[in-house]
Amino acid sequence: MMKKIIQQLTSSNCILLASHTNPDGDAIGSLLATGISLEKLGCQVVLYNESPIPAVYRFLPSVERIQKEVKDLLNFDSAVILDCGNMDRVGSIAKQVEATIPVVINIDHHTTNTQFGQYRLVDVDACATSEIVYRLIQAMGIEMDEAIATAIYTGILTDTGSFRFSNTNQAAFAICETMMTMGVNPSMVASHVYGAYSLGRIKLLNLALDSIEISNNGHLSIMTVTREMLAKTDTLAEDADGLINYARRIRDVKVAALIHELENGNGGSGKSRRFHVSLRSDGSVDVSRIAMNFGGGGHAGAAGFSMESSLTKIKQMIYDMSDSFGEQCHLS
Ligand code: 5GP
Ligand code: MN
Repeated sequence: MMKKIIQQLTSSNCILLASHTNPDGDAIGSLLATGISLEKLGCQVVLYNESPIPAVYRFLPSVERIQKEVKDLLNFDSAVILDCGNMDRVGSIAKQVEATIPVVINIDHHTTNTQFGQYRLVDVDACATSEIVYRLIQAMGIEMDEAIATAIYTGILTDTGSFRFSNTNQAAFAICETMMTMGVNPSMVASHVYGAYSLGRIKLLNLALDSIEISNNGHLSIMTVTREMLAKTDTLAEDADGLINYARRIRDVKVAALIHELENGNGGSGKSRRFHVSLRSDGSVDVSRIAMNFGGGGHAGAAGFSMESSLTKIKQMIYDMSDSFGEQCHLS
């Protein structure tokens, strides 16, 4: 498959590269690394992400190349879709991309990947999509530079939770070491990604910590971030990134859920609002299966889904689920 993908990419004049909405470090890192690399080969590339780039990632070289709109999809010979378990994760242009661009290449590491696209580089054992992209760049014989290395390093650093999550593998360390030899400065990257929060973000942390509830059996923790909390602290949805890890760190908790109210709901007025639910597990429960039941997906240890409902109903639904954590959800 790698050979065919390289053939397809090198014979394409114009390539669209896209990653998932509300991008994280891996979605942005893998997008930039692939884009800059293919451009070095002389390909014409357009880098696309539907959502704004979170402030903490705006230090990445060439990040300004990522556009929120693409004009004419007919111009592209190939589309490279990065860090997306399914095509819809790309956002509103997903269907058009599939209908218009002749070849879709799926590069991803989610266990729930639907195997979309004509060509696929899907490796669920990769710590990040950026790891797979690193292998692709090597296989293509493209020369690494500091910009590409910084993008790959950031993707791996953030998707492994700074080498703490269960997806942390040998490749994570090996690639990051190689990225340092290419000029990556870990403390510089960390100072942007983890050390440049607004005061509002810290205040939001306070509200989010205060919202944590625990199920009777102690196996489930629920954290809530509402639009009201964002307004009160003058923060954006991106500022809730990583908060769920606090809910997961509690002793005996097997699954942590973050219920995050989305902007495109009908605010506080109606009963039904739109929420994104992030799930994290301690390794004993496969949360990707839970997320899939609700139309989402992800990894065994980190997954998510979105739904329209009321906060009370979603909480009840998640609490009901926690009764079974000792039984059918267990990983073998
Ligand atoms: P998060 O909770 O940070 O949004 O996502 C955790 C993991 O699950 C990420 O790898 C993310 O890509 C995946 N994920 C989150 N929401 C969805 C969803 O609605 N559909 C799918 N397929 N994956 C999701
Ligand atoms: Mn990823």
